[in-house]
Amino acid sequence: MAQERTLGLIKPDAVANNHIGNIVKRVVDEGFTIVALRMLRMSKATAEQFYDVHADKPFYGELTDYMSSGPCVAMVLEADGAIVKWRDLMGATNPEKAAEGTLRKLYAESFTMNATHGSDAPETAAREISFFFATSEIFGR
Ligand code: UDP
Ligand code: MG
Repeated sequence: MAQERTLGLIKPDAVANNHIGNIVKRVVDEGFTIVALRMLRMSKATAEQFYDVHADKPFYGELTDYMSSGPCVAMVLEADGAIVKWRDLMGATNPEKAAEGTLRKLYAESFTMNATHGSDAPETAAREISFFFATSEIFGR
């Protein structure tokens, strides 16, 4: 499988619950290379833009309120098959359905406050990486 990059977020609930260290350690232990990392707080408008694909969903308001409620950690993760590998490590969107040992099973608070985000395809990874990081802030080899 080819080297690939994905956008990972440690969401506001996981930051507030002091799980940054646990999640970053897991990222490294699972073999990802962190090529960019930054703490940031999205405004409501920025969260709406980031999640515009979900604008027509009933959870859009709650989701964007939550995502703008406190800081996130944004990361660009590199690995063979990074997109699927990171989604597998996160586990199912609904933490009640997430497999044992996954980040959402371990650290999520609820369906909405589910600890982490990951891009779902190469096109979304490219969009989401450039949403948060300039090329000069990404330190690949
Ligand atoms: N979400 C929610 N209720 C739902 C579905 C999703 O609150 O019924 C939230 C949840 O925080 C999720 C985010 O919206 O992570 C984006 O949803 P998506 O279906 O893209 O899930 P993901 O790609 O994050 O697994
Ligand atoms: Mg998604």
